[in-house]
Amino acid sequence: MNDLEFGTRNKKGDWAPSQHLELPPFWSWPPSLGRVLGWVMGYVWPWNLVAIVTALLWWQLVVPDAGTLRTLGWGWALQLFAANWLGLFAYYGFFEWRYYRRRVQQRQFKYNGRFPAEQPSDVFWFRSQNIDNFLRSFLVSVPIGTAIEVLLLWAFANGWAPAVSWSDHSVYLVCLVLLAPVLHEVHFFVIHRLIHWGPLYRWVHSVHHNSVNPSPWSSMSMHPVEGAAYFGVALWTLLIPSHPFLAVFLFHAAAFGAIVGHLGFDQLALPGGGAQKSSAYAHYLHHKFFEVNYCDNGSVPLDRWFGSWHDGSPEGERLMQERFSKKKERLNAA
Ligand SMILES: [Zn+2]
Ligand SMILES: [Zn+2]
Repeated sequence: MNDLEFGTRNKKGDWAPSQHLELPPFWSWPPSLGRVLGWVMGYVWPWNLVAIVTALLWWQLVVPDAGTLRTLGWGWALQLFAANWLGLFAYYGFFEWRYYRRRVQQRQFKYNGRFPAEQPSDVFWFRSQNIDNFLRSFLVSVPIGTAIEVLLLWAFANGWAPAVSWSDHSVYLVCLVLLAPVLHEVHFFVIHRLIHWGPLYRWVHSVHHNSVNPSPWSSMSMHPVEGAAYFGVALWTLLIPSHPFLAVFLFHAAAFGAIVGHLGFDQLALPGGGAQKSSAYAHYLHHKFFEVNYCDNGSVPLDRWFGSWHDGSPEGERLMQERFSKKKERLNAA
């Protein structure tokens, strides 16, 4: 692995890719068929596939039948919580252990030249980003997300949510499942933009931004209010006619998907050789500069439309600085 073939490293040891971020190809005209096909592959493989496969596994093995779900009970709720907790711990733990503990590729392709363990700080519980982020993710966010999932399954079982059956509406439901990650992206952009508003930022979102150098444990490290808003994406099933599986899938897309922007590496060395692109750079730039890339723009270029897109290029940097100076002028004038 030689990351200098793909990017540059500055004096601080931070690596940046030479290839700039690109917006989804079907938003530019004329769209190139090759690039659209490449995008479709990247939409499913690998990150969304993890959410689909785990949601199907949970649906088959963990989620009880509608008869049980009709009554809210600690038994099945705790069973679901245990499965979510252990599944997410194993998944996140794998990345943390392989790339941050064992450091199989050291600092190759690492955006920030340092590891969180090397940077103790008073902003974190026990002065440790790793301990703080792990506790907030697994003792706060996962229970909140599971609670929302439990309430939705209970609502569906009692006929309080608009449900359609697989047998009558299979094509519609498959389309909904395939579009769910887009819904997640738009939902995330809206709530994220909202909690960047001064008072909400200081009260709520600053907790997540304490991690300027994010790692896997940072992914779900949030204030409880942000955790509820983030996993609240599954509540859309109360408005959109769907199926309880969609509520489970939206939880999985949010929970297993959160890691993507927080991997910290542009390419990951795979256990059997070869490497996998991470798609983490857009959100890494958000952690670095705060007021850019409110979503990953993986399917809908919301940041481009609202003027907050940073593609990692010198031009992206210039546009951001221009925006920051204008904001400063406005604040000074006020
Ligand atoms: Zn983040
Ligand atoms: Zn933010």
